[in-house]
Amino acid sequence: MKLMTVKEITALEPDGREVVVKGWVRTRRETKTAVFLEVNDGSRLGNLQCVFDAPGPELASELSKAGTGASVAVEGRLVPSPAAGQRLEVKAHALRVIGEAPAESYPLQKKAHSLEFLREIAHLRPRTNTFGAVARVRNRMAYAIHEFFQARGFVYVHTPLITASDCEGAGAMFQVTTLDLDRLAQSGQAVDYTKDFFGKPAYLTVSGQLNVETYCEALSRVYTFGPTFRAENSNTTRHLSEFWMIEPEVAFAELSDNMELAEEFLKHLVRTALADCAEDLAFFDQRIQPGLVDSLKAVLERPFAHMTYTEAVALLEKNAEHFEVKPYWGLDLMSEHEKFLCEKIAGGPLFLTDYPKEIKSFYMKQNADGKTVRAMDLLVPRFGEIIGGSEREDDLAKLETRIRELGLDEKAYSWYLDLRRFGTTPHSGFGLGFERLILYVTGMGNIRDVIPFPRAPKLADF
Ligand code: ATP
Ligand code: MN
Repeated sequence: MKLMTVKEITALEPDGREVVVKGWVRTRRETKTAVFLEVNDGSRLGNLQCVFDAPGPELASELSKAGTGASVAVEGRLVPSPAAGQRLEVKAHALRVIGEAPAESYPLQKKAHSLEFLREIAHLRPRTNTFGAVARVRNRMAYAIHEFFQARGFVYVHTPLITASDCEGAGAMFQVTTLDLDRLAQSGQAVDYTKDFFGKPAYLTVSGQLNVETYCEALSRVYTFGPTFRAENSNTTRHLSEFWMIEPEVAFAELSDNMELAEEFLKHLVRTALADCAEDLAFFDQRIQPGLVDSLKAVLERPFAHMTYTEAVALLEKNAEHFEVKPYWGLDLMSEHEKFLCEKIAGGPLFLTDYPKEIKSFYMKQNADGKTVRAMDLLVPRFGEIIGGSEREDDLAKLETRIRELGLDEKAYSWYLDLRRFGTTPHSGFGLGFERLILYVTGMGNIRDVIPFPRAPKLADF
């Protein structure tokens, strides 16, 4: 008999056919006349109920080993379920316990566990409803991202994770080296990077953008989707040291085109989650974030709001009493300000544009006012920034001047400047933090709970 998943079996008609189900026992209940096993294999949130009526002594002894967490194979007939709660069940006649999970030592007993506790057993937490649901949503979103861009003729470009030029400017970097640090320290000598693996200092990338821009200026519509690394010491519920980022880059696109793309993109992802992850989202709505599904549906219904940074700061200044950090023009807005703007002013996602050049990267296109750049951040309720992007400076002279003003190493940017020397074009792009997206669509509160094995300051277990 072909092995089917719980998802496949529960989509069938309960016509009495024979089925085999393999998975892990979520719960075992006993009544005077029957034993019930709830079996889950992660193919969907819901379990498959397997009923053993009046089991004989041999079956009863096998059933006694099928506690929470045990892996099992059940054979039986698929029949309509007389009880409320499920459409069908397996009227079981055979059971094999494949691997036991002793109740005295298995950490995931039936009671509810805190997310903090589950973080300590990250290798077992995918067996819970919450983390199974997060994993399925994450998977569907990753696929939807490729679907979205592929349908629009974007080329997926694989940008490097190791970079030998410290020129991305998006945050503190992790160094990559094969030098023997202990020996070096003992010798008391200065580091000689010509002896290091790459012959110069190397780092893990903080963004694929500069590299992907080179392909944009040849293939027009491109994107990268991969891991990025930031060594900033931010112990928040929104930051990881290792996270995944999606970075589209479009030639001949201006800031308004960029925002249109970002809005269409986020709406596509929300629509896909609502359509294809309905069971998981209903669970999050019920257990994690009440009102989640309605708020996601509302996001689809109207255009995102827009405001300039300058307008936003004026509004924040009028409401200064709400904030720990007092807002002023030039401040790199904090999550508390971003949340206020979305939740209290816009009532949903909000694009902020035209930020002061001092708080944004060197490559952003300069506005005529000499003070601001054509940047856009998309802010959302609950945590603030989900997307950061801009139109890029396409004028060689302006870009060179900016690099000099900031005291950056001009030589390191030579290849990047070639894109402006030869056939320069307006172009724009943005970065969506994949885990921030998952926070957004699941309603989960901590970014460490939407990636399988979170990396953060002092945290690299498993
Ligand atoms: P923030 O201000 O929230 O720290 P940022 O301005 O440093 O973010 P960008 O450099 O613009 O972020 O990166 C693009 C996107 O990557 C952000 O909009 C966010 O979704 C995501 N992102 C940035 N830093 C992190 C991080 N440490 N962990 C997870 N996602 C991140
Ligand atoms: Mn940003």
